[in-house]
Amino acid sequence: MCDLRFTHDDELVEQIQVRCGEWVREREGRVRSLLDARRGELLGNTVCVTAELVPDVYAAFRDCVELLTGSDQSGNLYVQQSHDYNANVFSDGHRFDVVVNSGLLEDFSADELKFVLGHELGHVLYEHSRLPVTEMLADSDDLQAEEAVLLLRWSRASEISADRIGLLCAGHLTAAVTALFKTMSGLKSMESDAILRSFRKQYDELQSHQQETGSMSGWARTHPLMAVRFKALEMSALDIAALRSKAAGFSWNSFRALDRQIARTLSSLENPGSPSRGMRSRRWQLCVLTALLYGALEVRSRDCDYWEFISEVHSALDSELPIGSMFDAVEQDSVAFRQSAISEIRSSLGVLVENDAEKIIRLTVLMLATGTNTVPHPSQALRELVALLEVADVDTLVDEVDAGKPVAWSISRILYGD
Ligand SMILES: [Zn+2]
Repeated sequence: MCDLRFTHDDELVEQIQVRCGEWVREREGRVRSLLDARRGELLGNTVCVTAELVPDVYAAFRDCVELLTGSDQSGNLYVQQSHDYNANVFSDGHRFDVVVNSGLLEDFSADELKFVLGHELGHVLYEHSRLPVTEMLADSDDLQAEEAVLLLRWSRASEISADRIGLLCAGHLTAAVTALFKTMSGLKSMESDAILRSFRKQYDELQSHQQETGSMSGWARTHPLMAVRFKALEMSALDIAALRSKAAGFSWNSFRALDRQIARTLSSLENPGSPSRGMRSRRWQLCVLTALLYGALEVRSRDCDYWEFISEVHSALDSELPIGSMFDAVEQDSVAFRQSAISEIRSSLGVLVENDAEKIIRLTVLMLATGTNTVPHPSQALRELVALLEVADVDTLVDEVDAGKPVAWSISRILYGD
């Protein structure tokens, strides 16, 4: 279950720990007292849902809790009077309290309600309350702008993780999507196929709008745009349904690959100007992969992790180049590959823009350091690449590479700066 967590969610928590770990720890005491105060407020001012009071709602809640935790976590469900379709959760790692508004209980079907409750329990499962972004931002005097952006980006990623648990609890995409639709529009009783079609259309229009205008309307939000949440759910729905029914055909490997694709889709929406699928040429991709293969040549007999690393870059580039044949070419005749690589890189110099050459060198250094956890003294191949790509300050680039981070995250950061 934990593996359903959105990759970006995990990775950004790590980044937040690195960048503002001390800051987060300092506030943990306060976070706890905040949660305590809220619990008092709930007990005093809302109604705790019991089997006797609202049996079907209580049953839906118990179903979700049991599906998720085997009921070793304890928590209550509260209802408060409001027509807004909203819910939230407070958790301190041991106990949790979910609150739903009465409007939602009246107008949502049992499965839609399970999506909402599952979503909130997803926040519990992944301990999202440890970083209460809204409170942290409200109290942000010593927070730098970049750190605030990082927290917001994580907050949106955490919603994607929570939505997946919501979908798991609801059992089917339709309930998840109609729940999102009702929340977004305030409308009820629409036909579910029409809702799916309208979400798809709106997502496509949003995507072209962001690409055309370069508008970054999503970056300052704590929640992803609804159309984006829909897209992320739709992309993972088949896998999550297979996982729930324990059907054959579910594979964690392909789920992880899909997860990466979702991460790139979201990232291209958040930063429309950044290179993403289709925006960089095959020529650029070929140059990056060739340079990495060249860098791996002299050491590859010692460590075939490099092949894995290069495959990871290939997928981060969203490249359709035949990477398997490229590996074969290197294996079959490394001398011939060396020659053709040099002329390939030379002739690619024209397509490189801004920091492209530095990105290639950074990736090469990271590749050489991966597995050993240390950045090696520049190898012969690295020196040759530096000369070929006309990169001036290689020492700084070597110093900047941190091989201790998850490889996929580091690659994406180098390529796309996120
Ligand atoms: Zn949420």
